[in-house]
Amino acid sequence: MDFSKRVILVTGAARGIGSATANAFARLGGSVAVHYCSSQKQAQALAKSLPGDEHTTFQADLTSPDDCERLMTEVMRHYGRLDVLVNNAGIYEVKALANLEFRDWQATWKRTLDADLIGPANLCFLAAKMMMRQTSGHIINISSRGAFRGEPEAPAYGAAKAGLNQLSQSLAWALAPYNIFVGVVAPGFVRTDMTAELLDGPQGDAIRAQSPLKRAATPEEIAEAVVRLAADGMLYATGCILDVNGASYLRS
Ligand code: NAP
Repeated sequence: MDFSKRVILVTGAARGIGSATANAFARLGGSVAVHYCSSQKQAQALAKSLPGDEHTTFQADLTSPDDCERLMTEVMRHYGRLDVLVNNAGIYEVKALANLEFRDWQATWKRTLDADLIGPANLCFLAAKMMMRQTSGHIINISSRGAFRGEPEAPAYGAAKAGLNQLSQSLAWALAPYNIFVGVVAPGFVRTDMTAELLDGPQGDAIRAQSPLKRAATPEEIAEAVVRLAADGMLYATGCILDVNGASYLRS
């Protein structure tokens, strides 16, 4: 795989899966637009540490449509093209229905849908417009095993990720005539800030036991799946949802 002369925008790249993904693309020669929301120092340190010298940081709160538009404008102004969009940024709030007041329920749904579905949908739109002009591009959306398995303690998250899967498949159809690949990577448990409390808490062993590999994934294993979907020769796999869950939830 060779991503030299390719521009890759990774959202939420300062930490976790996004950081590993930025690393994976840079090691393969890509120029990475390192997006962050609040983790400015980590994003800058990452951009500096990546192999190659064409990496730049960009700030945006992706729950704001204006920020999404500004981000895409700044990326295009800087690089002049966009080859790969990885919609990785997201939030996960454990909010079981039984413990919530109606107001909290509504607020959780709004925050989660804005961050995990509407923001990525807006970036898909903006990136697609560029890629349609280029008649090439890859959009990879990071969904979750929870979209299939259910998220009893985070139903808004499960619903947002299921929506992201369907958005991706609709766009795969719509954008195929323009030579644009749209695919999904759906991880199970991955060791990042998002899951540290769960994996290090009393439920940790039970979570690891969900996979016959008896462990959570590393962020690098998810990044590996992302770069493979973004590689040349994958166009006919457009619309796919690649499960990377250590066989913890199998569907056929
Ligand atoms: P993480 O370590 O918690 O990082 C989340 C990232 O999202 C951060 O870089 C953060 O940016 C960014 N972000 C959050 N809200 C944002 C907003 N409003 N605007 C812009 N960026 C925002 O998460 P992770 O575990 O690496 O997860 C990455 C993706 O994988 C998410 O979509 C998640 O749902 C999915 N996933 C994770 C797991 C898992 O087990 N970890 C499993 C399945 C799916 P800043 O730090 O700069 O604010």
